[in-house]
Amino acid sequence: MDKETIEKRQERYLQVEKLIDEVVEMYYKDGCACQHPRFIQIAGIDCVDYNTAFVSWETELMIGRVGNQFSVKKLEPTESEYLEEWCCDHCGSVFQLSWSEFSPIVDRRVLKPIKMNIEPIGKEAQLPIPLHAGLYGHGYPSRSEISGVDLDSLSKYLLEND
Ligand SMILES: [Zn+2]
Repeated sequence: MDKETIEKRQERYLQVEKLIDEVVEMYYKDGCACQHPRFIQIAGIDCVDYNTAFVSWETELMIGRVGNQFSVKKLEPTESEYLEEWCCDHCGSVFQLSWSEFSPIVDRRVLKPIKMNIEPIGKEAQLPIPLHAGLYGHGYPSRSEISGVDLDSLSKYLLEND
C-alpha cells in the first residue's frame, strides 16, 4: 500500500468520525438511536454474516459514539466472543454487543438488537449499505451488499436528508 492510499484512508476515517458525531447528536436531540433503522443497520454490520473477517469503521465509530447512552452488563463469554448486554438509558431497548478478535488486524465489535421498546421514526435502511470509511480485513462482501460512497452521499443517508 503506498503512502497516499494510507493518507486517503485516514482522511476518510476522520471525515466519517466527524459526520458520526453529528448523526449521534441528531439521534439524542429528542429521542434515541434505537428509533433509527439506519443506526441499527450500521451498528450491526457483522463480517460473520458474510463468512469473512473485516472491521467496518463506520460500525466501530457508531458503537463508540453511542456507548455512553447505554447501561452495560457483562455476559458470560463464549469460546470466540466477549458479550455484553446494552440497555438504552432512554427507551430501555436491549442490544447485544459481541466483540471478537479474528486476527491481529481484525478486532470486530458489533451491536445487534435483542428487544426493541420503541417504534422506528427514522428512514428505512437500504441496500447496498453505503460506507465511506469502509472496511478493512481479510475479505469483503459484494458491492450489492456493501458499497463505497462519497462523503456527501453517506451524510445524506445517515442524517436522513435523502
Ligand atoms: Zn433507545
